[in-house]
Amino acid sequence: MPLEIVTVPCLKDNYAYLARDEATGATAIIDVPEAAPILNALAEKGWHASHILITHHHDDHIAGVKALAAATGARVIGAAADQHRLPRLDEAVEPGETIRIGMFAGEVIDVSGHTIGHVAYHFPEAGAVFTADSLMALGCGRIFEGTPEMMLKSLSRLAALPPETLIYSGHEYAQSNARFALTIEPANPALISRSNAITEARKAGRPTVPTTLSHELATNPFLRAKLPEVKALIGLAGASDAEAFAEIRARKDRF
Ligand code: ZN
Ligand code: FE
Repeated sequence: MPLEIVTVPCLKDNYAYLARDEATGATAIIDVPEAAPILNALAEKGWHASHILITHHHDDHIAGVKALAAATGARVIGAAADQHRLPRLDEAVEPGETIRIGMFAGEVIDVSGHTIGHVAYHFPEAGAVFTADSLMALGCGRIFEGTPEMMLKSLSRLAALPPETLIYSGHEYAQSNARFALTIEPANPALISRSNAITEARKAGRPTVPTTLSHELATNPFLRAKLPEVKALIGLAGASDAEAFAEIRARKDRF
C-alpha cells in the first residue's frame, strides 16, 4: 500500500505535507507553518496526525507546531542539532538515523546550508523526499547560516537519490526560480519547456510540487553548477564546483 501525500498550502507561499501510511493509518505532518490549514486538511480526509516532522528552525516552518501537537497529540520529531531552537521535541534525531511512519522507514539526511541543522526526510519505499528549504523546484534555499561548500555538499546528497524520487519542497518559488534559471542557461531546451509548464500550472493555480530529481538534474542551475558547459556560461570555465555554485547562488541573491 502506498504512502499517500497531500500538499497543504500555508501562509503566503509555504507548503506543508500530510503523509499517510494507508496500511496502519500513521500520518506524518511535514513542517507546520500554521496549524489551521493542516487541521482542516486532516479533518477533510478524516485522518489523525500521529507524527510531526520538522525540517528546520525558521518560523515559517514551525510556527504552528505547538498548536498542532496540542490539538492532535502527534509525536514531534526534529534534528537534535536544532533542539535548542525548535518547539519541544518528543524525539531528537541525527542525520543517518531512521524514523518510522507506520510501515514506511524515513532516512534523516543532513542538508545544512540554508540553516545549520536543516534535515530532509527521505522515504525510499515511497520514492519521496521532503526537502523544505534545501533543494527546491529549480532552486535552493538562500544560504543564511552555512557556506556554499556546505550547501553544495547537502544538494549532492539529494542528487545521489534515485532520479525518479519525488521532491517535496517547502515553498512555491518555481516561477521566479525559472526566470532566474533561464538567465544562466537560456538555451537549455528542458529548462525552456519546464519554465513554460510552470507558468501554465501557476496560471491555473496548481502547485509546482512535487517535482522529480531527474527534472531537477536536467534544469536546476544549482545542481548543474558543476557541469563544464554551465561553468563556461557563467564565465568560470575551469573553476571548482564550489566556486561555480557560489557564483550562481550570489547571482540569485541579487536577482
Ligand atoms: Zn527557511
Ligand atoms: Fe522557509
